[in-house]
Amino acid sequence: MARAKTHQFRAETRKVLNILTHSLYTNREIFLRELLSNASDALEKARFLQNTGESARGADLPLEIRITVDKDAGVLMVADTGVGMSEQEMIDNLGTIARSGSEQFLRERRAERAGNPEQPGAQTGEKGDTQAPEQTGDTHDGTADGSEKTAGSDEIRESEGAPADASQIIGHFGVGFYSVFMVADKVEVTSMPARGDATAHVWTSDGTGSFSVKALDGDEAQGIRRGTVVRAYLKDDAKEFLEKYRLESIIRAHSNFLPFPIILEGDRVNTTPALWREPKFSITKEQYNEFYTFLTYDSRAPLDVIHLSVDAPVQFTALLFIPDTAQDYFQEQKGEWGPDLYVRRVLIERSNSELVPNYLAFLKGVVDTEDLPLNISRETLQENAVVRKISQTIVKQVLSHLERLAASDKDRYEAFWKLHGRWFKFAFNDYLNRERVAPLLRFASSATEGEAVTSLDDYLSRAKAGQKEIWYVTAPTREAARVNPHLERFRRKGLEVLYLLEAVDEFALESLGQYKEHAFKSVEQADAKALDEFPDSGESEPRAEPLSGDDKTAFDRLVEAMRAILGDQIKEIRVSDRLSGSPACLVSPDGVSSSMEKLMRVMQKSDGIPKKILELNPDHPLMRALLRIHKANADDPLLRDMVNSLYDNTLLLDGYLNDPYSLADRSLKLLNESAAWYADLRKL
Ligand code: ADP
Ligand code: MG
Repeated sequence: MARAKTHQFRAETRKVLNILTHSLYTNREIFLRELLSNASDALEKARFLQNTGESARGADLPLEIRITVDKDAGVLMVADTGVGMSEQEMIDNLGTIARSGSEQFLRERRAERAGNPEQPGAQTGEKGDTQAPEQTGDTHDGTADGSEKTAGSDEIRESEGAPADASQIIGHFGVGFYSVFMVADKVEVTSMPARGDATAHVWTSDGTGSFSVKALDGDEAQGIRRGTVVRAYLKDDAKEFLEKYRLESIIRAHSNFLPFPIILEGDRVNTTPALWREPKFSITKEQYNEFYTFLTYDSRAPLDVIHLSVDAPVQFTALLFIPDTAQDYFQEQKGEWGPDLYVRRVLIERSNSELVPNYLAFLKGVVDTEDLPLNISRETLQENAVVRKISQTIVKQVLSHLERLAASDKDRYEAFWKLHGRWFKFAFNDYLNRERVAPLLRFASSATEGEAVTSLDDYLSRAKAGQKEIWYVTAPTREAARVNPHLERFRRKGLEVLYLLEAVDEFALESLGQYKEHAFKSVEQADAKALDEFPDSGESEPRAEPLSGDDKTAFDRLVEAMRAILGDQIKEIRVSDRLSGSPACLVSPDGVSSSMEKLMRVMQKSDGIPKKILELNPDHPLMRALLRIHKANADDPLLRDMVNSLYDNTLLLDGYLNDPYSLADRSLKLLNESAAWYADLRKL
């Protein structure tokens, strides 16, 4: 039996180890992710050796990872059939912090390739720097602007059995392995290298001061023909990692997409492939749908798929879905949105909201990049330049995708809008992209039926000659918009009005200001005279004979009486020429639209009814009847009730209902009297 040689960790290694095991990772379950990533890298290297025809032992071994537990001994074992390590490799790679055997492996491969002109895309290294990542001869589609993946572009990069390359190897930094000391107070690594002497070695350490390495005699190799077994002697407070269900959920959460089978106590755990890394042309719709279901548990297939492979300004792959179901608004409020972030198939964070702005919060999916380190923390992700660049590229790509969809498939775009428009319209805040956002907005309008919506371009295509504004009205529903008295004149002139049914709509339009030199303007602010210049074209209500001289003065007296009745509830009463079908309406004195005013009042925490101008239509039959009553008896008590009721009515149409009790009371009183009169009149 060979004697064990003891080595001291270098002083800096000891310090870093201490930091690592105590604070680098907030979540200690990720130790398993690190061990599995290392196993996967080792398997990748073994595959590489086999594919390049180098002599390696155990050619018949399946490339896989097996996890077993010994509950009695409290030991977790992770075994792989990868390249394994020689004695020296163990000393170098496991004994030195920040030393990555994987990174070195890649460097060597790059150097080989750079010297071999047969290699696809390999550069001859004019600048002599064969280690620069740009010179790896990777065969990605080098789309400088990061355009959507085109079929065939990733053939070589993705095809099965391809030589190991940067996109497959996970490890780079040489720290992940030590995370095992968060859960173990002793670790044994037994390894049989794929090449060289057929001698297995075992590396042992408690993760504090030193480690030892010794050779195992033939029968001590414990049946390892090639590869590595990591035995973690779990700490007392880490015995949860002996439970199969616990291990399974960690594997599913972090390592589900490793390219080799992970077999836990005899059962394969990772069965879904990392679809985002497959070439687009080879993926069927069913595969996309299946992956989406796996990711979201949504029972409906996605409405649309956006699959991107980008090399510049940062390298990343994204597989994003537009769900066919409305999304939970509260998730956005809590900041819980965004695709899952992977680094080389290893999950870094679920729902990373730094990856997309909140107006794309409805997107589900996966982003995988090689340009981030595996051990990046949540905090560092937040101001990370790589993440920011990814996000900017995703925004541009999603906008292009939506533009294409809107142009090519109107129905599907409308379906998208119906489900996600309420999020997407917040894109008006994105000053960098707002020029592209405006044409993608949709609104209900007086020219659409039912739930149909219109784009601003379609609105303009229907605009009247000489029309300079894009008109809108805010209302809680289509019905409410339709009965808004301010709309009467627009109907008569055949001018289309956008119906803004959500509070954000008006903010969006106010903030955009105009579209293609047409200013957005609320119908409440319409200048009646300017509108009159448009010829009547739409429907128009029959107009009563205008009031004659005497009646005009009588009407002025009625207005006086109404002013006295309504008192300081209103700012002013005036005769209007904008109304035809309605007897009266409210207008804001300062040109602020009523929905803006409501929002301002909410912010100022004022809940009273604002003082407004009451505009009257002297030609309306109701006003004519009131005039007759007032002329006959200026003190008729019924007049007071009716004027108050009329005011109630205008308030309701304006969206205010502050005192439902007196309103109900008044309307009951009027009903009472009118029913009695009717019965008397008809002699019933
Ligand atoms: P990284 O994976 O970033 O390189 P680690 O600390 O996780 O850093 O691992 C350090 C090195 O140890 C790896 O680069 C690799 O050379 C070696 N190593 C770790 N685990 C294994 C394994 N299961 N098989 C072969 N080599 C391994
Ligand atoms: Mg690693």
